[in-house]
Amino acid sequence: MLEISNLVKSYAGEKTGKRGSNGARVFAVNNVNLSVEPGEMFTLLGPSGCGKTTTLRSIAGLERPDSGTISVKGRALFAAGNGVKAVNVPANRRGLGMVFQSYAIWPHMTVFDNVAFPLQVRPRQERPSKAEIEQRVGRVLEVMELRQYSERLATKLSGGQQQRLALARALVIEPELLLLDEPLSNLDAKLRESLRYELKRLQRELGITSIYVTHDQIEALSLSSHIAVMRDGEVMQLGKPRDIYENPTSKFVAEFIGSSNFVQGHVLSRTGEDYVVESAAGRLHLQSAAAMPAGSEVSVSIRPEAVELYTQRPADLQNVWEGVVGTRAFLGDAVDHLVAVDKLELRVRSLPNLSLEPGTKVFAKLPSDKLALVPIS
Ligand code: ADP
Ligand code: MG
Repeated sequence: MLEISNLVKSYAGEKTGKRGSNGARVFAVNNVNLSVEPGEMFTLLGPSGCGKTTTLRSIAGLERPDSGTISVKGRALFAAGNGVKAVNVPANRRGLGMVFQSYAIWPHMTVFDNVAFPLQVRPRQERPSKAEIEQRVGRVLEVMELRQYSERLATKLSGGQQQRLALARALVIEPELLLLDEPLSNLDAKLRESLRYELKRLQRELGITSIYVTHDQIEALSLSSHIAVMRDGEVMQLGKPRDIYENPTSKFVAEFIGSSNFVQGHVLSRTGEDYVVESAAGRLHLQSAAAMPAGSEVSVSIRPEAVELYTQRPADLQNVWEGVVGTRAFLGDAVDHLVAVDKLELRVRSLPNLSLEPGTKVFAKLPSDKLALVPIS
């Protein structure tokens, strides 16, 4: 559906004020490759400045990349670079819908007119009839639960309603691809959560292929069919939410999505995908698709909720470490224990029915299928 290959976009570096003294170029997008299937909710996730917006604006035709290709349904929207026939379809000819963080609604128009506008400004030969416009606008207002506000001035809507209006306006053109840049980030937490589910339902129901940009890992995990985690203009890891969460391939991804304990050690032995890692706190057996030869310095990543705590030694012979509870924190729906194992401090998240006094001797089980092997940096 959407194919992006070798996309690069750089900007001139910071100017120091002196003439000609430009700094090094900033590579906002640095060789990004993505492939999005029809009907997907595909998310670009990463910290501020990692190149999400630049990628999205390049797809929309609002930025001109240095090189690479972008195509939708096999139709080239952009192409530039060595040996490539240059293509650059103007933004208004790409047939894409966009919703931004600052939802620019037209304040002097009614809800109905806001949504009808993108259809009304089309060239005469492509413009739907008045009756069809009415029907299409009515339908998206219905879906967005805004129909009863049809004649109201857009500014007289609440924040959440205005954001739904911005979505309605993007949907009315029935875009082949919907581009969403942090569309929920200006809303308060409760509203954000409810709109998140609404957006997911809507995207499913309408089956619109969407590219969603966010720095919010929860949003990304809950909404997406696939996630591309970005850092410094590059895609660090691409996969389904659960796969990325459970099998991060770098410290960066393990830390950016959720939180993780890292146990540093070295590969003691490796047979195919079966690894034994030796650390100061003890030995760990795990399976990994990573290719790290024996002797490599590595980190083992384990999620706080994946560690199991017991007050009696469990029957398992492997991956059980003895420790002492240091600190305990009640979080309402969970209890966190910090467990000292040798010099290592393990963060363990448990269900609230487990609450152990500081000083309690415990056995921490690190299940081998919950461990991910990542490079040390
Ligand atoms: P994100 O959306 O992930 O926060 P952006 O795509 O907005 O990141 O920016 C990526 C990088 O490109 C940042 O380092 C940013 O400072 C730089 N950048 C973005 N737009 C411009 C611009 N118009 N001029 C110079 N640098 C820019
Ligand atoms: Mg951005």
